[in-house]
Amino acid sequence: MSVVTPEQRAACPKHMEYGPCGGVDFDGTCEVGEFRCVFLDTPTVRWHGTRDRPTESDPPAPQPGAAAMRALLATRQVVVADFPGRSVDRVSLADCAAALAGRVDATLAGDSGRSRVQFPPSYRAHLIQQQGVAVWTGLNCRDRNRVALEGELAGLRAVGVAGVHCVTGDHTATGGRPDAQPVFDLDSTELASLAAAAGHLVSVAEAPTSPPVEKRAARLREKVLAGADVCFVNHAGGVEPVRRFIEATREAGAEPAFIPCIPMVIDRGSAGLLRSFTTLVLPEGFLDRILHAADPYREGLDAVTELAERMLALDGVAGVNLSGGASAGAEVEFADAMGIVAERLGLSS
Ligand code: SF4
Repeated sequence: MSVVTPEQRAACPKHMEYGPCGGVDFDGTCEVGEFRCVFLDTPTVRWHGTRDRPTESDPPAPQPGAAAMRALLATRQVVVADFPGRSVDRVSLADCAAALAGRVDATLAGDSGRSRVQFPPSYRAHLIQQQGVAVWTGLNCRDRNRVALEGELAGLRAVGVAGVHCVTGDHTATGGRPDAQPVFDLDSTELASLAAAAGHLVSVAEAPTSPPVEKRAARLREKVLAGADVCFVNHAGGVEPVRRFIEATREAGAEPAFIPCIPMVIDRGSAGLLRSFTTLVLPEGFLDRILHAADPYREGLDAVTELAERMLALDGVAGVNLSGGASAGAEVEFADAMGIVAERLGLSS
């Protein structure tokens, strides 16, 4: 069994057990420092935790939000939209949630490099779900230790969220609050295990184009063994890279539901925000087509819809995630644009 060495953990700025993270630069450099990622040249760390994973004889009590999303995923493909509301702003949250309600199947309320300070995840999920849209909560290991994460998982269970998206998280050295101390008590694989034990529908992210590319499918397999049901596939450059990644994951012995990210761009502001994503790879010519069009908003809606339709045609794809963020002040317009794409896809009709 391959396990992480104490030296690797000590040298990794995120103290990861199940590295590498998704932030490895394309040349193999660590997301945080000018050195080679310490996990690149070693075998994939195998899942060796047992404490948190539920067993068939000791299953977690049903969580209604998770049960509803599981039932939906068993019936048809879904549309998940990133949540664009301004941070710690109840009015913006309510307005954006209202713009998404009844149009998308869930909204992914996660992390933002430019807005690290957010309402606590369970409170934010409660506010959004009050407007009638299911929440798929993004939960990171950067800002909370194991105890705080366990508390949030309990809160999210009480709220009845559709899913919990477990990520290690970008380091505080990237993003808007470099003055904050990072925590990284756990990593995404360990958090997936905790979330599964709490009865949640669990998703994780994987970045097919981040080094070591040839080991990303095996790393996903370990996350599935830990408890992940769904993989959100980071922006990997289009349909063919996602198809290859699904195939590689199956060959590695795992078959989670796949929800690929679709770049949501309708103007220069949303294009700029998307470019801030770590290890972003977009389809050839995608941004140019939109930004050089006479009407970037219309062209963006067309380009996003076309890419989503092609992605949904792939075997193994359980849905799409409209991924990105709004220009400052255009949050509701951006939410509405995602609603338009979802309606065009017509999955719920
Ligand atoms: S790239 Fe990520 S996993 Fe690798 S050393 Fe840096 S923080 Fe750790």
